[in-house]
Amino acid sequence: MLTRRLAVAGALALGLSLPLALPAAAQEAAKKIPVVASFSILGDFVKEVGGDRVSVTTLVGPNGDAHVFQPAPADAKKVASAQIVFVNGLGFEGWIDRLVKASGTKAEIVVATKGITPREMADEDEDDHAAQGHKDHDHDHAKKGEHDHDHGGTDPHAWQSVANAEIYVANIRDALIAADPAGKAAYEANASAYTAKLEALDAQVKAAMAAIPESRRRIITSHDAFGYFGAAYGVEFIAPQGVSTESEASAKDVARIIRQIKAENIPAVFMENISDPRLVKRIAKETQAKIGGELFSDALSDDKGPASTYIDMMKNNITQLSSALSS
Ligand code: ZN
Repeated sequence: MLTRRLAVAGALALGLSLPLALPAAAQEAAKKIPVVASFSILGDFVKEVGGDRVSVTTLVGPNGDAHVFQPAPADAKKVASAQIVFVNGLGFEGWIDRLVKASGTKAEIVVATKGITPREMADEDEDDHAAQGHKDHDHDHAKKGEHDHDHGGTDPHAWQSVANAEIYVANIRDALIAADPAGKAAYEANASAYTAKLEALDAQVKAAMAAIPESRRRIITSHDAFGYFGAAYGVEFIAPQGVSTESEASAKDVARIIRQIKAENIPAVFMENISDPRLVKRIAKETQAKIGGELFSDALSDDKGPASTYIDMMKNNITQLSSALSS
């Protein structure tokens, strides 16, 4: 910034017209579209599609938990100066409306999950839960407001299915073209190159999960972040904590899961990068299940970690699952 100001001052002193005097890179930087992404995984998608025309800032950073995020004044400033704010939607960012309002931003708010079929989570205190399995009783709960705790509601973790990630990318592409029509060709090219990588990734995830014996594709995680992954790739995830980390798992939920692990011989429990590992470690200790490692659920790792991009995150997760579950 300082260098640029000096360059500008120099240009004025010499009486040169500004665009000629600025180095090409500085001109590009000056023109970048400021956008905000609510969390790191979404920020990675926006960077892929936006390329060098867009400057991306994320609110909830690496290893951060968006469910319980508390925006600071600095976040309101980021939102205030953005031209587009990309959010996941589906109830993931319970704090976003207040933040947008407080910031006074004129930014377009773009919901990146538009067009995705949301998973509606059933309340898990059903008598027939163990018999029917996790996935089959969603449709019993069409009516809202009958849930007595946080297990019900919409599952926001749509990015855990790679096919859904492709929908995020299309939505991001369309929003960027609308905001910056001159970049249409660039955004289309970036989106299509990245979508090709996602399609290859999707095939890789499918193949990795199909290689695990079906009876062993059952996992415990601390919060219910992998419903879309499970539905897309044929793995059952069971979690004491529900689809948000906001409320703690009840003693009843933990006891039920411990019984279930023992009765059904569930092979492994996994920690998550955004969650306190103590609950999962306790469950492992009280059962025969082994700790399978750490899955990245709601956030990327930092640059040095194994999951600093979405693609690396998914590859890391399937490596962890495969090595723990293949006997
Ligand atoms: Zn989550």
